[in-house]
Amino acid sequence: MPSAAAAARSILTRLHEVMASRSKAQAKLNTVVEVIGESLDSEVCSIYLLREGMLELFATRGLAQEAVHVTRMAIGEGLVGTIAQNVETLNLAEAAAHPDFSYRPETGEEKFHSFAGVPIVRRERAVGVLCVQHVEPRRYEEVEIEALQTVAMVLSELITNAGLVDEDDAGLSPGSTGTEILHGLTLVKGLASGVAVFHQPRVTIEHVVADDTEAERQRVYLAFDKMREQIDRMASQAEFGAGGEHEEVLATYRMFAYDEGWARRINEAIDSGLTAEAAIERVQQRTRMRMRQIDDPLLADRMHDLEDLSNRLLRIVSGQLGTAAAMGLRSDAIVIARNLGPAELLEYDRRRLKGVILEEGSLTAHVVIVARAMGVPVLGRVRSLRGKIREGDQLLLDSDHGTAIVRPVPTMVTAFEARFAENRERQAAYAALREVEPFSRDGTRITVMINAGLRDDMPNLSLTGADGIGLFRTEFQFLVSATLPSRERQTRLYRDVLEGAGDRPVVFRTVDIGGDKILPYLRHNDGEHEDNPAMGWRALRVALEREGLLKVQARALLDAAAGRTLNVMFPMVSETWEFDAARKVFETQLEFLRKQKKVLPEAIRYGAMLEVPALAEMLDVLAPKLSFLSIGTNDLTQFLFAADRANPKLAERYDWLSPSIFRFLRRVLASIDGQRIDLTVCGEMGGRQLEALALIGIGIRRLSITPAAVGPIKQLVRQIDVAEIGAAMTAWLDNPPPNLREALQGWADERGIAIY
Ligand code: PEP
Ligand code: MG
Repeated sequence: MPSAAAAARSILTRLHEVMASRSKAQAKLNTVVEVIGESLDSEVCSIYLLREGMLELFATRGLAQEAVHVTRMAIGEGLVGTIAQNVETLNLAEAAAHPDFSYRPETGEEKFHSFAGVPIVRRERAVGVLCVQHVEPRRYEEVEIEALQTVAMVLSELITNAGLVDEDDAGLSPGSTGTEILHGLTLVKGLASGVAVFHQPRVTIEHVVADDTEAERQRVYLAFDKMREQIDRMASQAEFGAGGEHEEVLATYRMFAYDEGWARRINEAIDSGLTAEAAIERVQQRTRMRMRQIDDPLLADRMHDLEDLSNRLLRIVSGQLGTAAAMGLRSDAIVIARNLGPAELLEYDRRRLKGVILEEGSLTAHVVIVARAMGVPVLGRVRSLRGKIREGDQLLLDSDHGTAIVRPVPTMVTAFEARFAENRERQAAYAALREVEPFSRDGTRITVMINAGLRDDMPNLSLTGADGIGLFRTEFQFLVSATLPSRERQTRLYRDVLEGAGDRPVVFRTVDIGGDKILPYLRHNDGEHEDNPAMGWRALRVALEREGLLKVQARALLDAAAGRTLNVMFPMVSETWEFDAARKVFETQLEFLRKQKKVLPEAIRYGAMLEVPALAEMLDVLAPKLSFLSIGTNDLTQFLFAADRANPKLAERYDWLSPSIFRFLRRVLASIDGQRIDLTVCGEMGGRQLEALALIGIGIRRLSITPAAVGPIKQLVRQIDVAEIGAAMTAWLDNPPPNLREALQGWADERGIAIY
């Protein structure tokens, strides 16, 4: 028996000649079935191609020629239809014994017993089937099946070039695996419908048969080198998103990247006459097929790592390096990724990006905060995601309920549209509250501001009727820029923001870089790997050490606020001297501007974020120096619970509605009682109704939240009695109930307050 490579090679050499010939596509197919039949010593070889949604017999050796272009099978019908539907190989000693066998008298196939068929795949969908049949009842050898699979790849190229199958037809082939419902964790609520777009698209292979095998070998060799280099670099740069399972994934990636067996199999496929791209894909197809037979979720996860890596190798070798964002979205899209960084998300066209589904993700990861600000629903923690969705699949994302429907049937689409309409009604009710001031039933005015970070966020201020911007994350401009934004660009942005806000206040937070906000152009931590970046060299720590960075920003803010009030806030203050040092940078710049006789801000109000628990113990010292304090609950809670906010494994580990958080916050409130400073909560929890209810209950009167939450929070405030929830919270914190979330929900239910 020849080796798989040799068997495929001899067929491929002959096919190469056929494909290079000037004959018509039909004539080529006729020759192809002869070549394959002969090479595999098979009486029958047939090619079925997808046309108008049916698999049509296009060429055959051995079956009745009258059946050509006459015999047609539906997807899922008979053995051929089953292969196409499942995109899977069948190898049967006795075809008629298979439950899906469907006899077609016009073909005269009754005398043939054995049957082997492989799908002809284009963009992960079957566009046809190649099969062989034999009189003797025997199973085909593995090398023969492999040769068939390789030939099917070549055929895919031939039929695409010849325009034999309609690309749309292939796209529309009734989802080869039917409807599927995915379950995950709601990261950003909302409904969306659109087509699946992979953040890192799969590479389309243009050429399958190699002209020069040695050159292909060299290309793969170089690509492997480059890929290994990338993987090694990832360790220090956190290239694929935020921490979390990062380490584990990286270890697996490394293992695969250096796996000699994988490289060898690709080389063997090249030996059989394939191009580098086709060889990588060929090996991946084979692995995919093997893995499908193993029902082990752990292995399935590893399989996705290998898929990821294989795709990376393909992208390197083919030079198709861009993400889906760089290529542009063509229609309403739901982006699929293992994880994303905030900058990667911001690259997408906001008009067409309708939703995001991630394999990882957690509530307070910055990418999720950005998505929330953009009003893009996000479903996270969906296992084996990329094995279940294909590029271009229709998707209905219902993040409110933590699900997504892949390839929905029409009744599901109708039901979804009804929910969409309901949702729109609710949004309209929120919009009607735009001009309404959020007073509680007993007359307490709650200040509701929004969090923002980009120029594009400014319309949200008037759309929501918020009281101002309680947190402007200045680092977002840094994240979306390819290079460090110049002082002039910073000034322009800040000025536009202040102008856009009119007489409503804006609180600018100085850059909070680090943690999960990595800037590719700023060598982070001098290239040193941080085991724990959230507790690492970030925010004010970076700004104080790279004083140039803060100096430039201070100048830009002071310039932009000429003649107005400037509210400036420092992130991640851990000790009071850090606040003093940061303020000093501003004051030195102010002095400089004064000497230059520039127009200065009318007033400067300095504030700090309370995110590091240690600072809570120093508020008696710090508070007198502050005009305002803003509690960043995203970071604060991760530190209180020692639970990385970006680690998806911990996403469901603790609840914001935990008595420990609220007891802590209650102490903070008590410690600044009587001080003349504004106290705001600007973390994500303030934008959730039950959490906001509890915060108001302990005495918080100012919230800065994601714009989409303004309506729901105003609506909540108008329904509650602040004194009443205050008393309830005091009782619960003194004597914690078994589940504070349930207690609060019960409180709301009893009063007929609907919580969404
Ligand atoms: C916070 O930590 O709660 C906060 C508002 O800051 P960021 O989410 O940007 O870290
Ligand atoms: Mg923070």
